[in-house]
Amino acid sequence: MKRFDEERREMIQLLIDRGISDKRVLDAMSKVPRHMFVQDAFVSRAYDDCALPIGYSQTISQPYTVAFMTEACNVKEGEKVLEIGTGSGFQAAILAEMGIRVFTIERNYQLLNEARKRLDKLGYRVAARVGDGTLGWSEFKPYRGILVTAGAPTIPQPLLDQLDEGGRLVIPIGGIDEQKLHIIEKQGEEFLTREIHGFKFVPLIGKRGWSN
Ligand code: SAM
Repeated sequence: MKRFDEERREMIQLLIDRGISDKRVLDAMSKVPRHMFVQDAFVSRAYDDCALPIGYSQTISQPYTVAFMTEACNVKEGEKVLEIGTGSGFQAAILAEMGIRVFTIERNYQLLNEARKRLDKLGYRVAARVGDGTLGWSEFKPYRGILVTAGAPTIPQPLLDQLDEGGRLVIPIGGIDEQKLHIIEKQGEEFLTREIHGFKFVPLIGKRGWSN
C-alpha cells in the first residue's frame, strides 16, 4: 500500500545505518508488509523499529532484530530453516520471501492460527505447527538454520542435535530481563559460538526452556 511506502523506505535505511548489509535480507524486509502482521491499533507504528504487542502477552520482534537474526543465520534459497516462536508470522514471511523452506513452531494455538491465515493470504507457503519448540521438529532435520525468537535460560540440546553440518543456531540466552544473542555454528563435532549483548525477548517456555 502506497501509504506505507515511505515509512518502509525509512525503516530499510535505518537497518542499513545499523549495519545490516545482506541485500537478500534488505530486499525481503522491503517487500513483506509488516503492517499486516500487527494489530489494528498499532498499524500506524508498524514500520517503527520496535517490538509491538500481538496479544496473549507476546510481541512481533523489532525489525532490526528480525533482520539481524536472519543475516546471522546466513541461509540460502532452497535451504531449510526451523523457526521457534511463530508469533505473528513476520519472521517466517521474511524467510519465505527469501526462498527459504520454512518450518515454524508456536506454543500458542490462537497465535499460530492467526499467523497461518496471514501467511496464506500473502501467499507464503510455510510448514507451521503448534508445539514445544524447545524439542525442535526432528521429522524434517537437519536444518541449515534454526532461529529461536524467544529467550531461553540455556541452549536446548535437541536444537543442537537437529542442526546440519555448517548450519547455525541463533538463540537468545540469559535471564528473563536481558539475553545475549548466541550464534552457534556446527563444525564437525564442535560448536563455534559468538555472543552479542543487549537483546530482550519474551521467554521461551517449554521442557528445555523456562517453566510455565
Ligand atoms: N517470530 C515472531 C514474529 O515474527 O512475530 C515473534 C515471536 S515472539 C517474540 C516469541 C514467540 O515464541 C511467542 O509467540 C511465544 O508464544 C513463542 N514461544 C515461547 N515459547 C515457545 C516454545 N517453547 N515453542 C514455541 N513457541 C514458543
